[in-house]
Amino acid sequence: MDEVFDVAIIGAGMAGASLAAECAPHARVLLVEAEDTPGYHTTGRSAAFWEEAYGGPGVLPLTEASGRFLRDGGYLSPRGALNIGREVDRAKVEGFVDTFAKHGVTVELLDRAALTDRVPCLREDWTCAAWEPDCADIDVAGLHQHYLAMANRTGTVLRVRARVEHLERDAGAWRLRWRDGEARASLVVNAAGAWADGLAELAGARPIGIRPLRRTVVQLRTSPVPPADLPLTLGINEDFYFKPQGDRLWLSPHDETPDIARDAAPEELDVAVAIDRMEQVVDWKVDALERRWAGLRSFAPDRLPVYGFDPQAAGFFWFAGQGGFGIQTAPAAARLGAQLLLGLGADALTERIDAKTYDPDRFLR
Ligand SMILES: Cc1cc2nc3c(=O)[nH]c(=O)nc-3n(C[C@H](O)[C@H](O)[C@H](O)COP(=O)(O)OP(=O)(O)OC[C@H]3O[C@@H](n4cnc5c(N)ncnc54)[C@H](O)[C@@H]3O)c2cc1C
Repeated sequence: MDEVFDVAIIGAGMAGASLAAECAPHARVLLVEAEDTPGYHTTGRSAAFWEEAYGGPGVLPLTEASGRFLRDGGYLSPRGALNIGREVDRAKVEGFVDTFAKHGVTVELLDRAALTDRVPCLREDWTCAAWEPDCADIDVAGLHQHYLAMANRTGTVLRVRARVEHLERDAGAWRLRWRDGEARASLVVNAAGAWADGLAELAGARPIGIRPLRRTVVQLRTSPVPPADLPLTLGINEDFYFKPQGDRLWLSPHDETPDIARDAAPEELDVAVAIDRMEQVVDWKVDALERRWAGLRSFAPDRLPVYGFDPQAAGFFWFAGQGGFGIQTAPAAARLGAQLLLGLGADALTERIDAKTYDPDRFLR
């Protein structure tokens, strides 16, 4: 006999785990993960920051609502962010401040003197920055574990090493099959990250055009050691960011290389570009390249996430396209996702979010 569920969520990264936790008090939930360990793919590879401007104004309501939840839960620790520019970038930096101040973000224009206080050995040509004091580090593993534990406590059945290979709608319900198991569910959720479009095709639904873009991060030992209170420092032209991690530095060249859904690995060239860009910003010596990794950030064509029922495929729900903001938006996104999926009303976490903005209808009608 097949196991029968109300909801089958495919993918147990941050998206699937958080949605399972939000749904499980109201429904019988199955969470299916291809890998041995939930979080092995993009969720386990993030740079772990909460930055209000990241993803732009369309993502901001999700980030802000999630910020309150993350702060109250103890998942954030203060970091601050500097979006820095050279003199030639000043108009861009000022534009950044204007845009996000209008959206209620605490952001302020800083000049060179204030920058050198915060970033030691900053090269001379960096003269201005947009300062976001509220930016924070996120305890990603803690948040993911919280959601998995909450899902487990409320009765979610988790299957790992279970890559869904067959999905079929039959007599008003979905039948799912993986190598050594199967199940039935009234509703299926596509939380498959980089695999989201492929999973839609497996279900006979139309793909949206969600593209996995590869991003690289390296961990460096440097002289000087990065100060513990070094802000997240991002290029205003989106070509690098770095922040301290203990007494090491995490650095990314902010790459967005089109890739395929797979276990992403860093390319030597991207590692070299990252270090070269950092050396143009600060006069620091790289003593050792200790770790490198890459992950896939998946974007819909308009770079906004996709939450809601597919208008053509009955009982097929999209929870995908979390791009570079799927951790910092997870609490509000998961609550909103559960409300849309199960027909629950908005609450304090979601009342300021316009769900229409993220509806898959915008691509599939
Ligand atoms: C380098 C980097 C830095 C980042 N930094 C940040 C940051 O600072 N802040 C932030 O908010 N976000 C950040 N992100 C983005 C964030 O990590 C993602 O938005 C988020 O992890 C996406 O979660 P997900 O659950 O959708 O994807 P994933 O974690 O990839 O989970 C999808 C899961 O679906 C499973 N799956 C796929 N197909 C099937 C199938 N057929 N059957 C069963 N299971 C299947 C996969 O195995 C996978 O585990 C960063 C990403 C990268 C790569």
